[in-house]
Amino acid sequence: MQRLINTRASLQKVQIGLIVLASLWAFTGCQKHEPASPGSIVEVEVGVEVGVEGDVTAVDDWQTLFPEGETTCSDGSPYKFFVRQGSSDKLLVYLQGGGGCWFRQTCDPQMQPSYTINVANTSYPHFGIFNFAKAGNPFKDHTVVYAPYCTGDVHIGASDTIYPPIEEGQKDLVIRHQGRANMQAVLDWTYANVKSPKNIFVTGSSAGAIPSPLYASIIADHYPDAQIAQLGDAAGGYRRMNQATRPHEQWGTFNFIKDEKGFEHLNSHDMNYESLYIAAAQQHPEILFAEYDAAEDAVQKRFLALSGQKHVQLLDSLKANHQDIRAEADNFRSFIGGGTSHTVLQKPEFYTWAANGTGIRDWVANLESFTDVEDVLCGDCIRESYVGAAIDPALQALWDSWEDPATQYVKPFKIFDNVYYVGIDWVAAYLIDTDDGLVLIDSLYGKWVPMLVNNIRSIGFNPSDIKYVINTHGHFDHAGGSAYLQKVYGAEIVMTADDWAIARAEPELPQFYMPKPNIDVVAKDGDIIALGDNAFELFNTPGHTTGVLSIRYKVREGDNEYTAMTLGGVGLNFSGVARTETYISSYERLQSIQEGTSVSLPNHQEMGKVFARRDLAAARPTGAANPFVNPDSYKQDLNTFLTAAKIKLAQEKAGTAPTELEALKNAITDS
Ligand SMILES: [Zn+2]
Repeated sequence: MQRLINTRASLQKVQIGLIVLASLWAFTGCQKHEPASPGSIVEVEVGVEVGVEGDVTAVDDWQTLFPEGETTCSDGSPYKFFVRQGSSDKLLVYLQGGGGCWFRQTCDPQMQPSYTINVANTSYPHFGIFNFAKAGNPFKDHTVVYAPYCTGDVHIGASDTIYPPIEEGQKDLVIRHQGRANMQAVLDWTYANVKSPKNIFVTGSSAGAIPSPLYASIIADHYPDAQIAQLGDAAGGYRRMNQATRPHEQWGTFNFIKDEKGFEHLNSHDMNYESLYIAAAQQHPEILFAEYDAAEDAVQKRFLALSGQKHVQLLDSLKANHQDIRAEADNFRSFIGGGTSHTVLQKPEFYTWAANGTGIRDWVANLESFTDVEDVLCGDCIRESYVGAAIDPALQALWDSWEDPATQYVKPFKIFDNVYYVGIDWVAAYLIDTDDGLVLIDSLYGKWVPMLVNNIRSIGFNPSDIKYVINTHGHFDHAGGSAYLQKVYGAEIVMTADDWAIARAEPELPQFYMPKPNIDVVAKDGDIIALGDNAFELFNTPGHTTGVLSIRYKVREGDNEYTAMTLGGVGLNFSGVARTETYISSYERLQSIQEGTSVSLPNHQEMGKVFARRDLAAARPTGAANPFVNPDSYKQDLNTFLTAAKIKLAQEKAGTAPTELEALKNAITDS
C-alpha cells in the first residue's frame, strides 16, 4: 500500500514516552535633529502561532502593533513591535539585538551594513524565554512587550544623521537613528495597557542589552510600586570601547539623555555601558541589575576587534567592568558562563546551560522572583557546561569534538545537479532541489542550525523554499533543527510516529536537548512524498531506532538520472537481541530492493564515503563518471553493515556486546 503525501497532513497526536539513547562591527561629519516624538498606534495585526513544544494545541497569542508618529527604522520604513497579553501582574520588556553602526561603511546598506536595517523580516520570537509552552519558563505567564531593533543605535538614538560619501558616486546617506522614539512608542503602549504590574523584568540581548539599564530606570520611574529586575544579555565585555570611537554622538544620544532622571551627568567623553549601569543602579537602588555573558563570547570579541581592540581576553574585560559597577553600586549581579556563544535568552539552551553547577534558567528565575541571587562564574570558562551531573569523560570528549567549528564546518558542495551536501562533518544533511521547492533530509541540531541555514543560502537557495524536512529518525543530531525550520521557514516536518515520539521526548542528557517541532506529517512505510519532479519513497528500516526512515529518490547530472538511497540509521549504537534482529531484517530487506540503486547518500557521510567521493569528483576529468554513482559499492556497504550487525547479534547472545557508548564511538569512527 502506498500513500501519496503532497498536502499538509492534519495534526496527529502521538504517544510520548519512548526514551531511547540519543546518538548525540571615517565618518567625516554629521548633522543632528531634535528627538522625534512618538505617536499613537493605528493598526493592530493579530498573529496566532502554534507553540513550539509541549501540548500540540498550545497557542502563543502575539499581536503586532504599528505605531505612527515619529517612529521609524533606519531607512525610513515603518517600525513595529510585538506584544503578548498575559498576567496583568507580570511584565516582561525585551529589547531585541542586531548590531549597530556609526560609520558610512557599516551604516550604508550598499556597503557592509553591521546592523538590522528595518523590520520587514522581523517576526515573533519562538525560543528560549519566548517558548511559552516550555515547562520551567520563568516568563510563561508574563505580559510580554517585545521591542524589535532597526535603528543601528542600540535603541538610544535621537538623530537623523547624515553620513557623507566616502567613495566616488555616493550621495549623502541619512540614517534615522531614532531608537529612543521607537522605544517611547513601546513604553506608551505598555503604560496604557499594563496599569500596575507587581513584577517587571527589563531585558535585552546583545545590542538590546546595552540600553536595558536605562530603560529599566525609565520604567521604574513610571511604576514606583513595582518590583523590578533587569538583565543585560551578552554585552558586558565592551570595555572602554567608546573612548576611541563615540557612537553616541552619531546617534544623538545626548539630545535626550540629559533629560533622563539620573542620567543628566553623562557626557560623550566617558559614557559607556558600565556608566548606564552605574547611573541606573544609583538612581534606583531598589532595582536588581544583572548581566549574563559567556566568557569567550566570539561576537563580543569580533566587535572589540572591529573597534581596534584585538586579542582581548573577554573574561578580563568582563571582570574589570563588573568591578567598576560594583565599586559604585551593590544592587548588581553577574553570571559568566563558559564557551564562545553569544546571548542566551532566545536560545533553546537557556534551559540546559549552566556554570559552576548553576543553571542559567534557575539563576534568571531567581532574578525574576527577587530570590537570593548570587554571582556565578564559570569553572571551566572555555566550554559550555550543562545542568546536571558531568558526563562520562569519553562522551564529553566526543561531545567537544562535535561542538568544535574547526572540525565540524564543511563547505557545502554539489553532489548532483539537484543534490547538495549542507551538513556538518559528523552528521549529514542533504538539500534536494525540485521544480516545486526544496526537500531537506535531516536538520542537524543546536549551534549548527544557523550554519545549516547559512549553508543553504550560500549555495543560492532560500530556506523559505524548503517544503519538507524528512528526518531519517528522531535523534537530536538529525531532528534537532526541525522546530526552527518549521517555525521560521514554514517547512513541514516528516518522521514516523515512533520517531516523532523520540524527537518530542525529554532528552537523556541536557546536551541532547532539542526544541520540539509540532507534529506535521506522520510517515509510514511505503509513503511517498511527492514534490515537483521528484518523489521520495519512504522505507521504514527499524533498528537504530524503531522508526528509522531510509529514503529513495532521483538524482540527476546533465541528461543522466540515477536512483539514490539515504540510509537513515546505520549506527549500531543500540542494545538488545530483538532490536539487532530487527536491524538485520531491515538490511536484508534493503538488499532485496538494492537493484537499480546506484548512489548512497547516508545520514552520516562516512557510511557512504561521501567526502572521499566529493574529493574524487572535484578532481575528475571533464566527461568522467560521477564517483557518487557506484551500484556495486552500495551493495558492498549493505553487506558490510549486515555483517557487523550479525557480529553484534552473536556478541549480544554471548553477553560480550560492546556498551552503547563503545558502539556509538565505533559507529562514528569506523567504515
Ligand atoms: Zn541516531
